[in-house]
Amino acid sequence: MNTDSPKFCRRCLLKDISSDEYFNTIYEYIENLDASQKVSSNEYEKRLDSCRSCDHLVNGMCELCGCFVEVRAIKRQSHCAQSSEIW
Ligand code: SF4
Repeated sequence: MNTDSPKFCRRCLLKDISSDEYFNTIYEYIENLDASQKVSSNEYEKRLDSCRSCDHLVNGMCELCGCFVEVRAIKRQSHCAQSSEIW
């Protein structure tokens, strides 16, 4: 990735950036979401605990939807890919 590029690279593929840059981008994305789009920190941790104990969590991703669960779980409008009764 070009170091002169803006914070978010809209045109980069995973193979074009380092894993450190990629994960930092995910956390920056979460950080920069508008507060109105996010669940409370308590709800976020509750959701992540559900994912941690779920057999569908693989390397930080939900194998049912392909999302990084930390991104999916932060969004108020999102729900668990398996069931909205889980979160
Ligand atoms: S989103 Fe739901 S199905 Fe996916 S890993 Fe989390 S708890 Fe499991």
